[in-house]
Amino acid sequence: MSIVHPRTHGEAKQALANGASVADIVQSSLDAATHNASLNAFRELFPESALRKAAEVDAKLKAGTAGPLAGMTVSLKDNLCYKDHKAGASSKILEGFTSPYSATVVERLLAADAVVIGRTNCDEFAMGSSNENSAYGSVNHPLDHKKVPGGSSGGAAVSVAANICHVALGSDTGGSIRQPAAFTGTVGFKPTYGRVSRYGLIAFASSFDQIGPFAHNVEDTTTIYQAIAGADERDSTSSRKPQGPIALAHPGKLRIAYYREGLERPGMDPEVVKHLQQTIDRLKADGHTLVPAELPMLDHLVPTYYILATAEASSNLARFDGIRYGHRSKAAVGIDDTYKKSRTEGFGPEVKRRILLGTFVLSAGYYDAYYAKAMRVRRLIRDNTLKLFNDVDLVLMPTTPITAFDQGALSNDPIAMYLQDIFTVQANLAGTPAISLPTAMHNNGLPIGVQLMAKPFDEALLLGAAKHLF
Ligand code: GLN
Repeated sequence: MSIVHPRTHGEAKQALANGASVADIVQSSLDAATHNASLNAFRELFPESALRKAAEVDAKLKAGTAGPLAGMTVSLKDNLCYKDHKAGASSKILEGFTSPYSATVVERLLAADAVVIGRTNCDEFAMGSSNENSAYGSVNHPLDHKKVPGGSSGGAAVSVAANICHVALGSDTGGSIRQPAAFTGTVGFKPTYGRVSRYGLIAFASSFDQIGPFAHNVEDTTTIYQAIAGADERDSTSSRKPQGPIALAHPGKLRIAYYREGLERPGMDPEVVKHLQQTIDRLKADGHTLVPAELPMLDHLVPTYYILATAEASSNLARFDGIRYGHRSKAAVGIDDTYKKSRTEGFGPEVKRRILLGTFVLSAGYYDAYYAKAMRVRRLIRDNTLKLFNDVDLVLMPTTPITAFDQGALSNDPIAMYLQDIFTVQANLAGTPAISLPTAMHNNGLPIGVQLMAKPFDEALLLGAAKHLF
């Protein structure tokens, strides 16, 4: 039968109970993607494998053996590997690459009977805050095509915001899930570093990268998080700590810190500030204790992140040499020339900037002045962040200083673009879990998000608070 794509996994389960099939739901998702092609959210749809998987799940439902994600449609950011499917990190250098294996998260999704409908556009190698760095064009904001959807997981955010699929998997190295979630009015969740295996994620900055979901609500966020979280012997940084079932219970009265900087910092949109103040007042009225705090080392957050992330990126991206994967220059003669020309032709300007910056801060003469110093500052940021959690359960802050901006507005000013990440990079520097929730609409008609951060491995509290306090 022909149906409208259900908005959430809960609605999909209802549709199944009313006689729809998983094949109907998947077809409606593929149709919605085609209908919304002008958003440029998808690099590719996977109709064949999606409908094959749908038929398998329908048979399992009949037999009573279907997994917990039956009926759920999911998109994958273009930096996640899915066996026998293309993955390209939205870079020309990976043109033509087909993955011979699946990321652990993809294996777990399929084992739980979700259906993957396609791969989403993103900033090249996940470097960016607006999705304008994709080699395959910008993603358009569903509410205003002239605005950016945020980045780097812009296509992922839009695939959910435009009701194409229930859930999207993205990656968050410095805010790439939470910032586009705030811009598009979706929920975006970055788990604790190490909670979700990074095996099969095309690496950007390995000590920061974390995979996480976008969804319309906390329930779907939690369902998919539980399916993908947990130890994996193929990722030595994945935590052995078991993630118990998350009941999404009301957490009771909490102590919540908020940063004065979130209210006073120049460059903040006054309506974003007003909304944060109203949220603080409302939570107080609900009986929670709100504690003003100082954002540890505010002015050092973005520089520390950009030194360390570019250093790690320069090392991770050395493997794209024109020999083993993707693009090889046709003009090259000999090995050195092949490296040089393939990389020159294959990488876009932002990725080149990061490789150069990262190579510089790691170079013999500058290592101590930049890389080693930034490592020490990161430790202080982490220690100060964790210390705050001796006194409070959660930290509340804006996700972004402003709402979705015009395409082209910041793309010629890298520093202004980097400063957009002021509120998101702390969680990556400290390894803490954080979630962005769509809590208001700005007068300009665009969504505003607020962010909650918890201490490492406190996902159950974070998700429970996200559901009941907002
Ligand atoms: N905007 C940040 C950057 O460009 C974060 C990217 C990310 O989280 N992948 O590095």
